[in-house]
Amino acid sequence: MSSAEKLRNLPAVDEVLRSPQLSEEFLSQPRPQLVEWIRNAIARCRGELLNGKDLTSDEALRYVIEETGRQQRQENGRCQQAVINATGILLHTNLGRAPMADSAISRMRESSGYANVEMNLTSGKRSGRGERACRLLQQLAGAEDAVVVNNCAAATMLVLQAVASGREVIVSRGQLVEIGGGYRLPEVFAASGATLKEVGTTNRTYLRDYENAISEQTGAIIRVHRSNFYQGGFVTEPDIADLVALGKERNVPVIDDLGSGCMTDLSQYGLQEPTVPGSVQAGADLTLFSGDKLFGGPQAGIIVGTSEFVEPLRRNPMMRALRVDKVTLAALAATAEIHLSGRATEELPLLQMMSRSAELIHETAQRVHGEIRVPPGAQLQVVECISEVGGGSVPGSSIPGYGLQLTGTDSELMAKLLRSEAPAVLGRISDDTVILDLRTVAADQIPTLIVRLQAALDSAGVPS
Ligand SMILES: *Cc1c(COP(=O)(O)O)cnc(C)c1O
Repeated sequence: MSSAEKLRNLPAVDEVLRSPQLSEEFLSQPRPQLVEWIRNAIARCRGELLNGKDLTSDEALRYVIEETGRQQRQENGRCQQAVINATGILLHTNLGRAPMADSAISRMRESSGYANVEMNLTSGKRSGRGERACRLLQQLAGAEDAVVVNNCAAATMLVLQAVASGREVIVSRGQLVEIGGGYRLPEVFAASGATLKEVGTTNRTYLRDYENAISEQTGAIIRVHRSNFYQGGFVTEPDIADLVALGKERNVPVIDDLGSGCMTDLSQYGLQEPTVPGSVQAGADLTLFSGDKLFGGPQAGIIVGTSEFVEPLRRNPMMRALRVDKVTLAALAATAEIHLSGRATEELPLLQMMSRSAELIHETAQRVHGEIRVPPGAQLQVVECISEVGGGSVPGSSIPGYGLQLTGTDSELMAKLLRSEAPAVLGRISDDTVILDLRTVAADQIPTLIVRLQAALDSAGVPS
């Protein structure tokens, strides 16, 4: 058969669309999307035919429909949706970092229609955007003032641009971090128009290194929290209070890029992390942190500090480009209220999960274990798991807890099955076993987890 004859067996887009083999769910997708998938599938089928494959017109139609379904599944995987995080990583950047508190979620919903974002309802006059959220954040940090931008990277850029554009920023060589997703501090410095003035060595930087670097050109000193790695051994760096003392003496502003946004002492969980109030109290002129890490709120970059440095940021032309929307402001205010009223451990999902005792998680793991019917050939065990904070916070943290380990299955296939129905369950694969760490699974997600795990096991076709 010639190529031209073979290609006659290719279906047309309309023919595929009329095929009774297409599911209703598929046909409910937006039309341009359907047509695109079908066209791609036909093009692929054409390629196969030209490569020598022989397909009758029925076979070609079936090929195109299958290929169309594959594309739809690929696209479904991209649809943003709720997932169950059984990775044991509390702040997982790929999974949207901190889960938000119920009150933050309802305030976001309330604010998504018309809302008085820039109006004081008592006076009926125009007010500053997000005044309430900023006041709460300022109180929480114990600072004179606060402003909010899109994320901590934006906060760094705005602050450096405002304080040190065209001048030098002094930073320790031990703090030139890459956070992840290609976010490299030196590049943000460059984007702000400030020049990097590196001091010290990778492992040791002394106060005198900063002191010797101060000149006419100096715009600021910045301390960057090593939020996603740690150094041990022969290591020294001045703490923020020493940098503040030097800054005051030489009249150089001191910026503290904390990133992680820890509000309270975490030592009760065996974790060491500098806090935002600690940085403010030590006297940093500006302290920067993310809204969606340990603060436990929405994505945002929060800047707190002295009025002298914070107030001008509101009028900075960059501010307009970096400001957040009303929904974020609502969630930030609700989250700040939780911290301020001392209810963080009870109401912030992140802290609830972090503070849950290993015994409680063990009980949950045994309960789940008892409910699952494991097919022959596979084994499900309750195992100890070590969770971590992750997401650019508390580097090297390890929080002991429990989870379930599934052996005797094709772990890649199981992981895929667990991801493939809603809500997707995301675990870890280790030594060809699937591990579901239960520290990061909320109590109300457990029944769903059981259903999803059972369904995945039932359809895995475990070899006996
Ligand atoms: C996480 C982090 C950032 C980036 O924060 P985003 O909110 O993701 O932009 C910046 N600096 C430090 C020290 C961080 O830990």
